[in-house]
Amino acid sequence: MPAEDTIVAIATPPGRGGIGVVRLSGSRALEIAAGLLKLPHSRLETQRATVCDFVEPESQRVLDQVVVTCFRAPHSYTAEDVVEISCHGAPVILNYLVELCLERGARAAEPGELTLRAFLNGRIDLTQAEAVRDLIESRTLYQARVAAEQLEGSVSARLKPHKKVLVELIAKLEAGIDFAEDDVSVAGWDEILQSIEKIRADLGIFVQSYTYGRIVREGLSLAIVGRPNVGKSSLFNCLLNEDRAIVTATPGTTRDLVSESASVGGIPLRFVDTAGIRDALDEAEKIGVQKSMQAVTDSDLRLLVIDSSQPWSDEDARLLDKLRPLGALLVALNKSDLPRRIPEGVIESIFSVGKAAVPPSEDRAPSSESPVPSPVWRIPAVPSCALTGAGIHELREAILAVAVPARDLGGESGLITNLRHQQLIQESLGALAKAREAASAHVHHEMLLLDLYDALRPLDQITGATGVEDVLDVIFSTFCVGK
Ligand code: GDP
Repeated sequence: MPAEDTIVAIATPPGRGGIGVVRLSGSRALEIAAGLLKLPHSRLETQRATVCDFVEPESQRVLDQVVVTCFRAPHSYTAEDVVEISCHGAPVILNYLVELCLERGARAAEPGELTLRAFLNGRIDLTQAEAVRDLIESRTLYQARVAAEQLEGSVSARLKPHKKVLVELIAKLEAGIDFAEDDVSVAGWDEILQSIEKIRADLGIFVQSYTYGRIVREGLSLAIVGRPNVGKSSLFNCLLNEDRAIVTATPGTTRDLVSESASVGGIPLRFVDTAGIRDALDEAEKIGVQKSMQAVTDSDLRLLVIDSSQPWSDEDARLLDKLRPLGALLVALNKSDLPRRIPEGVIESIFSVGKAAVPPSEDRAPSSESPVPSPVWRIPAVPSCALTGAGIHELREAILAVAVPARDLGGESGLITNLRHQQLIQESLGALAKAREAASAHVHHEMLLLDLYDALRPLDQITGATGVEDVLDVIFSTFCVGK
């Protein structure tokens, strides 16, 4: 049902800028806007930009020269009448324009209300509304691309065929019960099981993409650890430098930790440069070391930096032992421009023996070494030079391989990035598992229907509801009932 009131908001970010846009949406949008503008043809023309003056109502004094664009329902963002007034980006002008709209009967829009209206008016579904927010919040181009695919409806497109099969199955079973006397062909158990299995398999693959999708959406943190002077800060800067344009600085959480974010393979990666984890000399240093250790533990993955121009030291070994149990780990053999003082055999034995962070199947470090026997996990060790940048590309690739082993799953358009979607699909899968059991046990159709409706409901919460009429439509279009 269309909303009654007309809403208004400044659509551009706070602060000064080249332009600032005020957006009105609702049945009175054109009338309210027209009252504040000196229009060349005395009325707003739709689907075209009009240059005109924004005038003070009492004195008719010109306040700004603006460009007005007007969209008639339903061909607008909200599917209502929409007017966008592009002013110069002066906050006083924008605020005054909004104030005047409010005086004339508009209401200040709540955050996200324009998109909510687009949803309520049926122009977009829930997944698309959620994608608008993700697109606005994207920090890397890759994130934006994934959100844009979802804005086009990629999540719904992926789910709809399964919903259709589910609705058809429900319709057949309902028809079998409700129209038992009529000549209705009821699905056989094999057909029922096959349909359930097909949906289960596809939804199972789709839901798995969340492992990668979550990382794409939320990013990862990587702690850089190593003895003093091995080149941690230099590597940190190297890793950040490659994507300067989209690097965002975030203040360090403590005096001892510096953290900055960059895009690695389209994934926002927050690098945490630790103060150095070693045996503390005094109380003050102990606190610093504890903080660093906490940050290292909390990070999604860890990069141990080793100075390969120095012999392998006890301190390196102790650090490695501390890091091993914490999870995903990789090693930079830094200062590769200098003669190596850790022999290849030692590197092999240190990083390929014993318990390590990454199972061999997920180990995609660019290395030429022979495959490691299966019970032994490897830690990817990548030679790097922070002075020349040699090996940095390989290091980034190795970071990605450790961080997101499931990177190839699905591609941009087949990704779930939203926890809500993931949980609802899991719920649906749970109900489908019950439905399969029920069908295998040849239970009464009415019981089986309960599980199928339980499987359909969560999918409805993602893409929009299936009404009784949808089920009836299928019944009456598929069967010749009541002819
Ligand atoms: P941190 O204490 O581990 O953060 O180490 P820094 O990044 O401050 O580096 C310590 C010293 O090593 C500095 O003089 C760097 O210029 C130098 N350094 C860092 N990386 C390399 C490298 O790959 N090769 C060489 N030759 N020197 C490096």
